[in-house]
Amino acid sequence: MPKRISILGSTGSIGVNSLEVISHLKNKLEVIYLTAHRNADLLVQQALKFKPKAICISDESKYDDVKGQLNNTSIKIYQGREGLLEIASRDDVDIMLNGLVGASGMEPTLKAINASVDVALSNKESLVMAGEIIRKALNKSKSKLFPVDSEHSAIWQCLRGEKLDDVRNIILTGSGGPFREREISTFYDIKVEDALKHPNWSMGRKISIDSATMMNKGFEVIEAYWLFNFKLENIKIVVHPQSIIHSMIELKDGAIKAQMGVPDMKVPIQYALTYPRHITSPWERLNFFDCGDLTFQKPDFKRFPCIDLAFRSLKKKGTAGAALNLANDYSVDRFLKNEIKFPEIPKINESSLENHNWIKNPTLEDLKELDIWVKEHVKGFS
Ligand code: MG
Repeated sequence: MPKRISILGSTGSIGVNSLEVISHLKNKLEVIYLTAHRNADLLVQQALKFKPKAICISDESKYDDVKGQLNNTSIKIYQGREGLLEIASRDDVDIMLNGLVGASGMEPTLKAINASVDVALSNKESLVMAGEIIRKALNKSKSKLFPVDSEHSAIWQCLRGEKLDDVRNIILTGSGGPFREREISTFYDIKVEDALKHPNWSMGRKISIDSATMMNKGFEVIEAYWLFNFKLENIKIVVHPQSIIHSMIELKDGAIKAQMGVPDMKVPIQYALTYPRHITSPWERLNFFDCGDLTFQKPDFKRFPCIDLAFRSLKKKGTAGAALNLANDYSVDRFLKNEIKFPEIPKINESSLENHNWIKNPTLEDLKELDIWVKEHVKGFS
């Protein structure tokens, strides 16, 4: 029996890569549900190729278009946020791959956990927003989280077979993004196109900006904290510009285990979908004689204040991660629309983190109210 898969965000970068993985493992993986935000044409193409039971288009204005194009099929079509949450709640799948972008991915993660469906998690914002709530939900459910983020997949692979007691540090690697060496005094001149050019990984727009501010690495610290249950002081960041080592663990005897490969998201996606197996794949492989020198640097917290914001939010817990994450969603959106400058992203994020109404044990309702406040707060900057 093939594993039954649903993919949230199937027309985004992670979704498209996931469907490539599924295409090459047709007899092992079967698509049951697909959801997309607004790319109606690509969703329709995917639906015709993979023949899921149902799909959802979140942007309701595209519903008639999708419906019209799939008129002659038996595929059920949902729409809107409600349709997305309906599909995320289904328990007739084995794994839900959450490739959504930003805070909107958090509730679908919880829906799948509550339905006892395993979650292949690319949407790290779920854990940044609601790490504690998700951990509690996991304790009550049969569901497991499988990391898709390349660093966390690497750590997950390194930890296999080790006693957690023997592990001293988790070491997250990060490329440092496109502005690792740019003169800081020119950061106000950074254009959207410059920030979207990641040196190694090809990714969606939001995460490319997060990589340029290194907010992404900060969020990955938070993600690692909730996924692997390590103390904050045992989660380290090492800048490794070549992105060949995807992350490492340091054991108590000084041994280091690193997971390496070409930077290709299909590898961690496939591992999350075929765990615990490493199945033969057709993608490009690492050639040691081509990849050049591997180098390492300290992360520069002054250049990239967003990293420090992530550590601060994790020390505070409660609503701090959600306030930071929501602010970052909105500030990145405003940067992408050319409404604010690049160095204002960390300033806005910090202001939301420091000035929001902090709650120790927030409910989902509290997070929704916080969302309204942060959205207004971020609008106030110009
Ligand atoms: Mg990553």
